Parts: sequence; structure tokens; C-alpha cells
Amino acid sequence: MKYALVTGGSRGIGKAISCHLAQQGFYVLINYRSAHEEAQKVKAEIEQEGGQAELLPFDVSDPQKVEEVLGGWMKQNDKYIDVLVNNAGITSDNLMVFMSNEEWNKVISTNQNSFFFVTRQVLEGMIVSKWGRIINLVSLSGQKGHPGQVNYSASKGAVMAATKSLAMEVGKKKVTVNCVAPGFIKTEMTENISEKDWKRHIPLNRFGKAEEVASVVGFLASEGAAYITGETIAVNGGMYS
Ligand code: NDP
Repeated sequence: MKYALVTGGSRGIGKAISCHLAQQGFYVLINYRSAHEEAQKVKAEIEQEGGQAELLPFDVSDPQKVEEVLGGWMKQNDKYIDVLVNNAGITSDNLMVFMSNEEWNKVISTNQNSFFFVTRQVLEGMIVSKWGRIINLVSLSGQKGHPGQVNYSASKGAVMAATKSLAMEVGKKKVTVNCVAPGFIKTEMTENISEKDWKRHIPLNRFGKAEEVASVVGFLASEGAAYITGETIAVNGGMYS
């Protein structure tokens, strides 16, 4: 049995990834911060389909909680995490000229610092077991930029750069580290963005579905992706490559 941790697995893209990985046979640890009922529903959905899942709530931006809850789970169960999907993320958009320290800090800590805290916690296990998959959800905004998202672009760009360095550190141990960069995907995060107004900028002429991101994450978690590392795969309907 291989264990997969999906941060922010209670809703949106993370929910689709949790369900997809469970279908691939992984025992899925569904992380979230506050959406307990939503996370329960994801677990029930997975179990209904014959999969296995467990809830593991903690704030990914809090290093003490990461150590306590995730480290505690690994110790208590004497298990390693085989697949880590760093998916939890937030936006707090504002033009930089008006951006507060709080808007900057909360996005950097949730999207970027969490990559360090959560990945560090599971890395030793992957190295010792000589197998691992780390998959980071970044964004088109971190690749090409987006006005009003200086904080968000900075956090995603940093994770893309860190992915390349970490891939070089752990490749010899058969641990791969990659990013998936979605464009506009229909979730709560994008519910206030008009598909009607934006779709003309997208070659495939529509927003993407969470499942269309999950299938790429599923591929990167599979044996078939064993020779891909340090890479960013765009899932954006052809908007940018
Ligand atoms: P949603 O807003 O729909 O879901 C976010 C998830 O992250 C929730 O499960 C939420 O849990 C969790 N989360 C937020 N903060 C924390 C925290 N501090 N600790 C633990 N969990 C947390 O987001 P999406 O599904 O749209 O996005 C998923 C990822 O994909 C993000 O990294 C996002 O940046 C990226 N992305 C999304 C795009 C899109 O178009 N939707 C485009 C490009 C990238 P809870 O509710 O319990 O707080």
C-alpha cells in the first residue's frame, strides 16, 4: 500500500486529486484547514468507490502543526508518505501599490512556506525508502504574471524554482519533484472570474475542470512518470506554454 498526502484536499482541485489518487490505489490522506464537512464528503466519496482515505487537518503554513500532526501520524503509524501533493493555496489579490503586509505575508506563507514545511517533513521517509513523488500545484500566474497577483505570482514562481533545486538533490534516491501549473480552472478560487469574458483568451475556449488537472497529477504520481523530474506541466487550455 502506498500513501499519498494531498494538502487542501477538501475542495476544488485537491478534492479531484484525492479521488483520482484513490482510484489509482493510493491510501489518501486528505489535508485541509477548516472545511471539515467538505473533507468528510470527499472521504465518503472515495470509500463508496472502494478506495481508502483518512482526514488529516492542519494548517500547512504553521510549522509546529505540520510537525505535530503530520510527523505524529507518520510516527504513530510507522509509515512514510510516498506521494506528496502540495496543493493547498490561497489568493489575496490587490494591486501592489495598495497591497498590505498582511496580504503579502498570508499568501507567501500559505503557498510558499508550506512547500518547505510539509515537504521537509516527508522527505526523509522518501529518501530512506528510495521512492517518492512530490507534486506542487503552481499557476499560470507564476509563469507569465497577472496584474493584482504580485504576491501569488511570487509564491508560485518560488515553488517552481525550488522544485528544480530539490529535484537535483533527491533524484539519485528515485524521488521526483515536479509542478503542475493550471490556468483557469472552475473552483471556488475562480468563482468570481467570468468565463464568458476570459474564454476568448483561451485557445480551447473554456475554463478547465478540476479532474483535468487531477489526471496530470495522477500521471506524475505513477511509475510511467519515473523519468520526469524538475519539470512544470501546464494545464491551461493552450493559454501559455
Ligand atoms: P480552492 O480555494 O477551491 O481550495 C483550496 C484548498 O486549500 C481547500 O481545501 C482549503 O481548505 C485548502 N487550504 C487553504 N489554506 C490552507 C491552509 N493554510 N492549510 C491547509 N489547507 C488549506 O482552491 P483550488 O482548488 O482552486 O486551488 C488548488 C491549488 O491550485 C492552489 O494551490 C491554487 O493556487 C492552484 N491553482 C488554481 C487555479 C484555479 O483556476 N482554480 C489556477 C492555478 C493554480 P479549507 O477550506 O479547509 O481551508
